[in-house]
Amino acid sequence: MPVFSLDPAQKSWCDELRAVSADRLRPLADKGEPGRINRPLLAALGELGLLDRLLGAGALDLCLLRESLAHGCTEAETALALQGLGSYPLVQAGTEEQRLRWLPEVAAGRAVAAFALSEPGAGSDAAALALAAVREDGPDGPGWLLTGDKRWISNAPEADFYTVFARTTPGAGARGVTAFLVPADRPGLTGTPIEMLSPHPIGSLAFDSVRVGAADVLGEVDQGFRVAMNTLNLFRPSVGAFAVGMAGAALEATLLHTADRTAFGGPLKDLQSVSHQVAEMATRTEAARLLVYAAAEAYDAGAPDVPRRSAMAKLFATETAQYVVDAAVQLHGARALQRGHLLEHLYREVRAPRIYEGATEVQRTIIAKELYG
Ligand SMILES: Cc1cc2nc3c(=O)[nH]c(=O)nc-3n(C[C@H](O)[C@H](O)[C@H](O)COP(=O)(O)OP(=O)(O)OC[C@H]3O[C@@H](n4cnc5c(N)ncnc54)[C@H](O)[C@@H]3O)c2cc1C
Repeated sequence: MPVFSLDPAQKSWCDELRAVSADRLRPLADKGEPGRINRPLLAALGELGLLDRLLGAGALDLCLLRESLAHGCTEAETALALQGLGSYPLVQAGTEEQRLRWLPEVAAGRAVAAFALSEPGAGSDAAALALAAVREDGPDGPGWLLTGDKRWISNAPEADFYTVFARTTPGAGARGVTAFLVPADRPGLTGTPIEMLSPHPIGSLAFDSVRVGAADVLGEVDQGFRVAMNTLNLFRPSVGAFAVGMAGAALEATLLHTADRTAFGGPLKDLQSVSHQVAEMATRTEAARLLVYAAAEAYDAGAPDVPRRSAMAKLFATETAQYVVDAAVQLHGARALQRGHLLEHLYREVRAPRIYEGATEVQRTIIAKELYG
């Protein structure tokens, strides 16, 4: 099984995706309202069959999708990834009834999903989450009332349903958390958008005695933390793929610019410090790509070293993308900082992946634990 190169069919799929993202999805993204869910963009991802593909994808396909879409349109990449993040708890742990109700709508881009784990008091330390699920059985059987807050939830507050991780057993840490599927129209659920550095649909959610029943549980009661972690394990290498896609776009723009721009009597690329900088950017991007593909293949093969590989891939790719985009800005000069320039956009986009789905420092902790374990 090659971990070092893609086969011809995979390569041509990536080329197709890059073309689609630049030609079809980019114009739809440009028409969207910054920081809001772009439903026409999601509908196009549905029509193209990409959301359907996402829901059945293994880790490598997910990475190829994210890297290739990010190259031409980060908004399309993010819209697709968030559908996956919000839906995967349902894919892995949902009942047939739950899946039939929601997944065809998600695949068509008509229903918007969101993954609600983080809270004001629980980010990196997700097992400290406190959103209370207090048992209150109704006439139809077991039930809970959800009370508390979620924060930094992508697609909130406009999503159509949330996979919500709530505390069913106080004081039990990761072992007292249950995953619930909560439709957005449940009474008592409200939300507020949050404006970020890079326009990203995100917000907070407030739960005021939101009623959920047995039919809303995803998986087993008190076993929801595993549902969250299984989801993040699949998505972690693909955050690296998103970063590699952004680094690739920055690198490509830099190659074109430094070949074209003249200064001191010739193109910038003839200055050795410029061409060496570009060589370094390309080398680090390729190294990041290989770590991401290797981690994804290990995941798909069910290899035992997935936690270490995934953590290394996410850490190295997101840090590399930050380096590459910053260097690309430098080599473009002032024009890169003009509002609306590709690199101005990437410079803002590239920052968040070093924090979410496990900050860089958390990935180092995972790697060190595996090494000494
Ligand atoms: C754009 C964006 C989208 C997001 N989308 C979602 C979403 O859809 N759903 C969701 O549930 N959450 C989402 N999040 C939240 C994200 O998962 C959290 O921001 C992340 O887990 C970090 O938590 P925190 O921000 O509270 O930082 P904290 O946990 O307070 O950590 C702050 C910093 O402390 C350091 N640190 C923390 N732990 C350690 C450690 N063990 N060792 C060393 N240093 C450490 C790191 O530098 C870290 O960045 C999103 C965040 C962003 C920025």
